[in-house]
Amino acid sequence: MILMKFGGTSVESQDAINRVTRIVRRFESHRPIVVVSAMGKTTNKLLAIAREAAGGRREQALAVVDELRLHHLTHGLAVAGPFAAELDRYIRTHFEWLEELVKGLSVVGELSARSMDAIASVGERLSSLVVTYALRASGIKSQHVDSRRVIRTDNRFTQAQPLLEETYTLLQDQVRPAAENSVVVMGGFIGSTADGHTTTLGRGGSDYSASIIGAGIGADEIQIWTDVDGMLTADPRILPGGHRVRNISFAEAAEMAYFGAKVLHPATVLPAIDKDIPVVILNSRRPEAEGTRITSRAVPSKNAVKSISCKPSITILNVRSTRMLMAHGFLHRIFEIFDRFETSVDMVSTSEVSVSLTVDDRENLDAICAELRQFAEVSTEDGQAIVCLVGENIRYTPGIAGRAFQVLNDCNIRMISQGASVLNLGFVIAGTDLKAAVSALHTEFFSELDPAVFD
Ligand code: ADP
Ligand code: ASP
Ligand code: MG
Repeated sequence: MILMKFGGTSVESQDAINRVTRIVRRFESHRPIVVVSAMGKTTNKLLAIAREAAGGRREQALAVVDELRLHHLTHGLAVAGPFAAELDRYIRTHFEWLEELVKGLSVVGELSARSMDAIASVGERLSSLVVTYALRASGIKSQHVDSRRVIRTDNRFTQAQPLLEETYTLLQDQVRPAAENSVVVMGGFIGSTADGHTTTLGRGGSDYSASIIGAGIGADEIQIWTDVDGMLTADPRILPGGHRVRNISFAEAAEMAYFGAKVLHPATVLPAIDKDIPVVILNSRRPEAEGTRITSRAVPSKNAVKSISCKPSITILNVRSTRMLMAHGFLHRIFEIFDRFETSVDMVSTSEVSVSLTVDDRENLDAICAELRQFAEVSTEDGQAIVCLVGENIRYTPGIAGRAFQVLNDCNIRMISQGASVLNLGFVIAGTDLKAAVSALHTEFFSELDPAVFD
């Protein structure tokens, strides 16, 4: 069995879904299980609906509901063939439910994380139905499974963690047998708590769902179908024209994802590592392209650096001890606060009296700073960026840092970090320098390419 996950752009429209149908047919003899994201930018729109409604802007919220309903009806019914009437009923029921919720929220004027997840889940609930009918209409025997029945999570709404043991048992009992004689289609991103409340795994979480489901059913391969040819040597939104990386290790892929390569959700590799299942990134617009193969051990490469990841907009926090020297326990007090606010820190550097940290998620930054100010002086700098060289050979290759510094000569480097995993070398620079920095680093490290690893 194989797991095939199709991201938002791969199911955004009638044409995209027809491409998916053709791709699934090609792999039919491998007994695929299909996991899909919400169509296009549906999740962004659903979250906007939730915010507008809770902010009392009922009409604006309902206008977006109408827009989404029309999109799903137009493209969904176009691919459902003889099942159009059945799908029409499902789509309308979901949107009626959403409309009621919007009306309720706009009266209450309050939005809980739980309601947010209930609303956000609609995207994947619908796209998975649409794709089930599209496959069926094209003659592929397919069956829909509501992911909320089999992906069991804790109750940290909007960032739920899967309870793997329970989930694997449910997948073995309910999905594997169904997949023996039909193509099972499921929505990514969503799950539910033991008491039946809908949860989501965090933005971009369909990749993670795919890997959990792949591991749970014991798939031979997990395919992530997206809108690029695979993992590239640079983020194409920052530097177009990067090269495809043919193969990469789980550790390298995880590091790339963690430092901003949106092509893969950072948690995706964990279940795959656990069961040693290869993950392949493929382009649904160019299905003949070979993609990137992620496995436990990468093919040896003459290039020490495999890719350049970046986070274009992060904040530096400088935390200075109000005593002359850093007191014992200072770091502990700082990190305890980040822990409590569930805010992750990407990079840290320390000096005698101060600590600098970078954060990506600004949601609780004001509250965090207020607590830090009880025992330290705190300043923040927005508009910074992280650029990170990733590659397992960085640790064995002398001179990488020297070459990077030389190239970044014109940038003011604010922080440097070589991770404990030693497969990344990261710098914090001004966001305005990012494009030039990535371009210069790319020229330095990818002018000569090992054909065994790069295109
Ligand atoms: P999907 O909807 O299929 O999950 P995403 O938008 O989440 O797709 O991820 C694919 C996008 O990731 C690409 O379009 C690209 O802009 C971005 N990306 C960032 N860094 C990289 C990288 N190093 N290699 C490939 N794509 C990257
Ligand atoms: N639809 C969800 C999101 O946009 C999950 C995903 O696409 O991976 O975040
Ligand atoms: Mg994604």
